[in-house]
Order: sequence, then C-alpha cells, then structure tokens
Amino acid sequence: MPQTFTKIADIRSAIADCKQHKQTIVIVPTMGNLHNGHLQLIDTAKQHGDVVIATIFVNSMQFGLNEDWEQYPRTAGEDIAKLQTKDCDWVFLPTHAEMYPNGIKSQTLITEPTMSKILCGASRPVHFDGVTTVLTKLINITTPDYLVLGSKDYQQLQITRKMLQDVCSSVKVIASPIAREADGLAYSSRNMFLSSYERTHANILNRALLTTKDKVSRGRRDLRNIENEAIDQITDTGFRVDYFQICRPDSLQVATSINTKLIALGAMYADHTRLIDNMHLL
Ligand code: AMP
Repeated sequence: MPQTFTKIADIRSAIADCKQHKQTIVIVPTMGNLHNGHLQLIDTAKQHGDVVIATIFVNSMQFGLNEDWEQYPRTAGEDIAKLQTKDCDWVFLPTHAEMYPNGIKSQTLITEPTMSKILCGASRPVHFDGVTTVLTKLINITTPDYLVLGSKDYQQLQITRKMLQDVCSSVKVIASPIAREADGLAYSSRNMFLSSYERTHANILNRALLTTKDKVSRGRRDLRNIENEAIDQITDTGFRVDYFQICRPDSLQVATSINTKLIALGAMYADHTRLIDNMHLL
C-alpha cells in the first residue's frame, strides 16, 4: 500500500528524509475518483523521480457556488487501491481544514491574470484562482522536483506553467497525454454523471475535434467558420456548447490563419455535466 499522509507536518518530515538521501520528488495532484487518465500520470511520474506522491484533495476553492463540489465523487479507499497497482509511493490526503485552516475567504490568492480569464475561465470565474492557489500550496508543502499534469486540462497546464515561471519556481512541469475511452471520450471523473444517452453520444466533442483537425490538415484556414461548424456538430447531437475555439498553443490567444501552431479546445454541457477536451491541429 502507498504510505498515506493526512497532515502537512508529517509529509514534510518524511520529505526532509528523502531530500537527505538525495531522492527526487514528483507530485501528481488530483481530486480523486481516479481513472485511467490519472493512473497514466502516475506511470509518467514514476519515470521521472524516486518518490511519487499522488495528492487527493477536492479543492472547494476551484468550484463556483453553483458547481458540483458537494456531488463530486469521493472514493479514497478505491483510489488508494488503484494507486497501489501503479506502485505509487505516497498519497497525501489532507482535510479541508488542514489545507485552509483559516477558511477560504481569508486565503491569499495566487491569480494568473490573463490566460485564466478566457475559455473555461470565462464561464468559471473563480476556477483557476482556486487551481493556482491550491497548486502553490501543494508545491510548498511537498517541495517537488517535478509536477505531473494531464493535457486534458490544457488551459490549466498552460496557466500553471506560466504561474510557476512568473513566481520564479524551479519546479519542472511534465505534461502527460490525454487518456481516452475506446470511443474517444476523454476519461473524466465527471463521466459517471452522464445518462446512458449522454454517455453514448458524449464522444461528439472528440469527434468534432477530429473533424476540425482533418479540415485544417486539408489546408482550410477559415478558422472561425471551422469553429462554427464544430459548434453545430455538437449542438446537433443535443449538447450545449460553452466554447469551441482554435487557439495558439502557447498563449491560448485566438489563432488566425497565419499561425503555424494551432490547438482546438472545447467545453460542452451534457445537462449539468461539463466536459472538456482539446487537440493539437498543427
Ligand atoms: P482532476 O482529478 O480532474 O483534478 O485531474 C487531476 C489530473 O489528472 C490533472 O492534471 C488532469 O489534467 C489529469 N487528467 C484528468 N483526466 C485526464 C485524462 N483523461 N487524460 C490525461 N490526464 C487527465
């Protein structure tokens, strides 16, 4: 079984021991309810360090008032068993009070002011402040050499990279590819909320990304038309599109026909369940 820590002081003293033995630390932050996407991050982490720490914390700070923090699945026992199959060394499972002893309202925020306001940030205004704040805390607690993040949350990945650069952190970010179900749907802890109709058709987001990539590969560069066609494709299947945008992969600014590197990002709602996905086009 991976060794489980719930207290900051305990994991800090164990990490001090590792550092004395010159061991490399890698952290894999998660909100639990682990699936194959998360487990792939552990495989990536194992390739980069001596001590792999999965953190499991459903961070209330990154959920909006009307979002699904309370419903978010909490399955710590099963998560630890899955981590064992991957030889994960440690699990850090702090309580809310351990992470926010003075409550959320008085917590100092780490805000990335530009990239965090667009795409997912436009419809989830507090989300990325919660993410960058909790990641900063987890990094300060565990002082890792490497931080492993999934490319499924591409905007989170780019914001985190920028935030760490902005605060002169020496932590290196490793991006792991998107893990998908056989039909192309990206693994997500929220997939369990889908009805049977929604689950059958939820891969439309991935299919729209593939169609988009195909159009760009064939030489089309009317990016706004291509985005609108993808939105129609998803809407016609019965889902509500939050956004579907072709961007520059570094800054996430809206791309134009002259850009030589492109990524498409999309978010859609299946009833109340919000699903995201992305794909590099060029
Ligand atoms: P979460 O538990 O949803 O906060 O995700 C924790 C980490 O797992 C984040 O770095 C996510 O990007 C990553 N992740 C979640 N789903 C996937 C997936 N399908 N493929 C790759 N990484 C993922």
